Amino acid sequence: MVADKLTVTRETFDKVILPVYAPAQFVPVRGKGSRVWDRDGKEYIDFSGGIAVTALGHCHPALVEALKTQGETLWHTSNVFTNEPALRLASKLINATFAERVFFANSGAEANEAAFKLARYYAATRHSPYKSKIIAFHNAFHGRTLFTVSVGGQPKYSDGFGPKPADIIHVPFNDLEAVKAVIDDHTCAVVVEPIQGEGGVLPATQAFMQGLRQLCDRHQALLVLDEVQSGMGRSGKLFAYEHYDIRPDILTTAKALGGGFPVSAMLTTEEIASAMSPGVHGTTYGGNPLACAVAEAALDIINTPQVLEGVAQRRQRFIEALEAINTKLELFSEVRGKGLLIGAQLKPQYQGKARDILHAAATEGVMVLTAGTDVIRFAPSLVIPLADIGDGMARFARAAEKALNAG
Ligand SMILES: *Cc1c(COP(=O)(O)O)cnc(C)c1O
Repeated sequence: MVADKLTVTRETFDKVILPVYAPAQFVPVRGKGSRVWDRDGKEYIDFSGGIAVTALGHCHPALVEALKTQGETLWHTSNVFTNEPALRLASKLINATFAERVFFANSGAEANEAAFKLARYYAATRHSPYKSKIIAFHNAFHGRTLFTVSVGGQPKYSDGFGPKPADIIHVPFNDLEAVKAVIDDHTCAVVVEPIQGEGGVLPATQAFMQGLRQLCDRHQALLVLDEVQSGMGRSGKLFAYEHYDIRPDILTTAKALGGGFPVSAMLTTEEIASAMSPGVHGTTYGGNPLACAVAEAALDIINTPQVLEGVAQRRQRFIEALEAINTKLELFSEVRGKGLLIGAQLKPQYQGKARDILHAAATEGVMVLTAGTDVIRFAPSLVIPLADIGDGMARFARAAEKALNAG
């Protein structure tokens, strides 16, 4: 094979990539805003956002500009030397949130890995080495490293990789009594997504989140919010915790943070951060200048009233369109979520059909996501034009009808 003559197709995937994914049959080659094109020039409207990542659409001019400028300035230093984009991004995240300290990494899983390690380390050094219990929730998703997949509440993702890290307990989501029954002074952290994303687009209730905060305070446990998916404007606030009138101890964010450039962050307070010292944790790429320059540009745009307030109006359009589809097809039992993280739960008679609908949608020219086997998930750009929502939902309606008729 001559590298510069190599032609690749969707079939190449089945030969060269580790078979842990089952991508759609078309290969996107170009994107602009909320539209994407494949190699044949077919156009798709993107309601998937690269799984809640491209929050400002594809190739946003400000992000392209930030990447180009930084690309001609300084690419990488490691953490042996700090850099200006990382310091600026950390300062802006602190200004915008509860946080006083930031740790940068490259993926959601790594930010969560840092959060769980910090929670254990803080408890071990400030309280007792026996204060190691982590409470997490059924159907939670926190990433694919061994620690994060073990804290996640979907055994299908962690089975076969044991022995797993110990002292992790799972209880039902939105069930405060279940947490009360297991939390004690040996608990170092309660880990929760304010809106379970992969688990089915399920928002935590107000009473649940406030109750968790009180229980954590009572037992000197840290409240760790995984906002990898719900953060960076997705819910209509910069971070979803703002809906709940609580303050987390540790928060992780990733997906939309770089708008498509890989970067993640763990935010915490001065007091908790002070448990750490040089050498205790780290990562080579964390705070990479390219990543932080793009994320700074993304944060500057997302953390504005225009963008955050625009989320509610766009959500409304999606909900109206989904209700219209439902009036005709009686497909969904519930449409839920917050902001532009929307889940449409399939009725029991359509159980297991979410992936068929996703593939039918691709054929009609609209990209959607699933969350489990029974939920269609929408996580579009936060600045998607209203006209694109209309066009895309018309395509989705055709796709849903065809998928149902196909049995
Ligand atoms: C996607 C996701 C992760 C994992 O992020 P990666 O970048 O895939 O490692 C963790 N937590 C939540 C809530 C997520 O949605």
